[in-house]
Amino acid sequence: MRKLKIPIPPKPTEEEKRAKIEKMWQEAPMDYATLLVRFKNNERLLHYLKEFPDDIEWPKDRTCKNCGKPLVAVYECSPAWTWANLCGLAGYEYACPYCGKLHEFQMTMMN
Ligand SMILES: [Zn+2]
Repeated sequence: MRKLKIPIPPKPTEEEKRAKIEKMWQEAPMDYATLLVRFKNNERLLHYLKEFPDDIEWPKDRTCKNCGKPLVAVYECSPAWTWANLCGLAGYEYACPYCGKLHEFQMTMMN
């Protein structure tokens, strides 16, 4: 009996991956109000969305491992007292506004 050959789809190149994410990103522009609704059950994220509304980013190279949609990066910065006590922390929380999954925190500053 002959073995069935299942065609393996060619792996997308980095460029194709980027183009796909770019396209989703352009189609996804979720406005601020929608983001607030999407993360209404996550107090911490909601707090930072409201505190740093100008620091919300749609990174073009990351998608949700759960649903494949583009992630949003929300800037987070610990309160002033933590910086005064040399335990301040700031960075971006990557989260999926579609399925609500949090991905990772990427620290950009600490003292
Ligand atoms: Zn998702």
